Amino acid sequence: MNVAVISIPQAVPISPSDAVRLILCHDDDLPELLAAARAAKERFKPGVITYSRKVFIPLTNLCRDYCGYCTFRRDPGEPGAHTMTPEEVLAVTRAGEKLGCTEALFSLGDKPELLFPEMRDTLRHLGYKSTLHYLEAMCELVLRETGLLPHPNPGLLSTEWVGRLAAVSPSMGLMLETTNANLLEPGRAHDNAPDKVPAKRLRTIEEAGKQNVPFTTGLLIGIGESPEDRVDTLLAIRDLHERYGHIQDVIVQNFRVKRAIPMAHWPEPSHGEMLRTVAVARLLLPDANIQAPPNLSAPYYEELVDAGINDWGGISPLTPDFINPEMPWPHVEQLRSRTEAKGCELRQRLPVYPEFVSAVVSRSGLLSEKLRHATADDGLARRAA
Ligand code: SF4
Repeated sequence: MNVAVISIPQAVPISPSDAVRLILCHDDDLPELLAAARAAKERFKPGVITYSRKVFIPLTNLCRDYCGYCTFRRDPGEPGAHTMTPEEVLAVTRAGEKLGCTEALFSLGDKPELLFPEMRDTLRHLGYKSTLHYLEAMCELVLRETGLLPHPNPGLLSTEWVGRLAAVSPSMGLMLETTNANLLEPGRAHDNAPDKVPAKRLRTIEEAGKQNVPFTTGLLIGIGESPEDRVDTLLAIRDLHERYGHIQDVIVQNFRVKRAIPMAHWPEPSHGEMLRTVAVARLLLPDANIQAPPNLSAPYYEELVDAGINDWGGISPLTPDFINPEMPWPHVEQLRSRTEAKGCELRQRLPVYPEFVSAVVSRSGLLSEKLRHATADDGLARRAA
């Protein structure tokens, strides 16, 4: 018989030293850690797990960075390299609308025009000065022409661009990934990825805080960082949230190996490491939305509920996960039955979380009008699944 020897603090949020101790805990102690995390989740949002029904819009997969784990990015001329036209954006968004989607998730490479003359030509042809100008116009197009709400993931942003994109989207996102700047060294995950400098990403997230923009961020585990780095990354997010109150969601994402990436032979983090990290995130941030993608933990993804998540992130009934295309999202009905088996109801949310809706609705203009229309009385999606 295994006897758990770990002591779990009763009070949350836990201290940084307790977080490091717990993230390194022995397998035998995992049930006790998970029980504490699940209890904290139930105090925060009892009996409910949310998801966002979305379409995934890979606006351009050209990118000036070369992250070692990325299967999304392309150079111009490579098979699959593509920048979507406005017609393609509208077609996929309208198809998603028919399937009850409420989020248009814009994913794109970071500033490809700085590196590639081909992207500068594409943008000139489309009539825009930069990828961000084009993104802004496509968010506005989706907002104007459909009932979906844009949620851009555009990479690093200046003060001006945080404000401009906030005018056409109720929320946005940027994964911090890690605070470990050593991953920028030659041969490591962020070698030749100038937009992955942790201090720069923290600045963008802070700028969103200064402008009261509901913001999604998170960490990517298993890319060469240590468990202590994971705690440090969570603490950096917590610090920004304590200062600005704008972090609507913390994603814990696990690296999955793929063929044809520089890290094709890199070991994946174990399921236990994922559960420990989610549980520690919950105990460090007891009143924050914590999300983990189910497709990256299949087939055991429902165990993430035991570790304290309260959200599955974006699930699309239409478009594949272009970031992890070999790992399909579960069908919503399977997600619902597995969520219910863990004692929770599955509810559809908007890209902006309920606790942040009123601040965005109080602004004037099209964004406020569309958000008000999409929101039910409880702040979740009006067309609740
Ligand atoms: S992860 Fe993002 S920034 Fe890195 S190469 Fe891929 S698209 Fe570019």
